Amino acid sequence: MKLVTAVGEESPFVGMITNDEQHIIPLKRVEESVFGSSIIPDSLLECIKLGSDFIDRIQNQSSVFHSRTDLHIPINQVRMLAPIHKPEKNIICVGKNYVEHAIEMGSAEDIPEHMMVFTKAPTTVVGPSHDVLSHSDITNELDYEGELAIIIGKKGKGISREEALDYVFGYSIINDITARDLQSKHKQFFIGKSLDTSCPMGPWIVHKSVVDNPNHLNIQTKVNGELRQDSNTKHFIFDIEEIISVLSKGMTLEPGDIIATGTPAGVGKGYKPPKFLKHGDVVTIEVETIGILENKIY
Ligand code: MG
Repeated sequence: MKLVTAVGEESPFVGMITNDEQHIIPLKRVEESVFGSSIIPDSLLECIKLGSDFIDRIQNQSSVFHSRTDLHIPINQVRMLAPIHKPEKNIICVGKNYVEHAIEMGSAEDIPEHMMVFTKAPTTVVGPSHDVLSHSDITNELDYEGELAIIIGKKGKGISREEALDYVFGYSIINDITARDLQSKHKQFFIGKSLDTSCPMGPWIVHKSVVDNPNHLNIQTKVNGELRQDSNTKHFIFDIEEIISVLSKGMTLEPGDIIATGTPAGVGKGYKPPKFLKHGDVVTIEVETIGILENKIY
């Protein structure tokens, strides 16, 4: 089940992608047409906050939603926003979560013993196909980081490894765009990680029910078709259960929280000489079972 936020001629709406990925099922409009009213909010974040009321409803009524093909909208007739297009909180990001990436950013001494965490401002988030600003007036070292993202579905604190996946709503893809020069100049990562448009996200959220093992998904990043990152989430230093457990030890996680799980080796900075992004480059991230996120640098 793939859930999107899209805009047609009117305001944003929540949709489900058809199995052939050619159409969007506008959930609220179908419900209103079939049942006369709908509980489906206009934002996916609000849907996620409804908890099982939302997901049970669309799972139980799945055949109804899919059968009303007269209301389905061709995917090329809408603009897709980030599935959570206005996050209420910073994006939580795990740093150096693949051994080879930690080494390319320094040396084996950079492999973290404890989970490394930073955040990106909510204003960084843009959708699939949205351009990423090059910010060439303030950075010469814009870089990409293909990552699997976790979307939290249930409020919790002190979550154990064993129950961690119960708190997940689903998964998406994030490009953790980074200005390397600003990242190192300001010591703390926040500015270098929080430039406007530096968090492309999407193209949708895949509900966890269709992801057998999130700790075993191929992940690839290409720039203008050239393969730069090629790994699998089985190489996480801290797996998804550990990420949720460690983060929630003293901090409440809430529905709609977004956690980027770290990037594999092959970022632009890791090449000699470095391969930073420039105007016109197209970055394509593919995560097995989740989908493809593609953005152009403007
Ligand atoms: Mg990252």
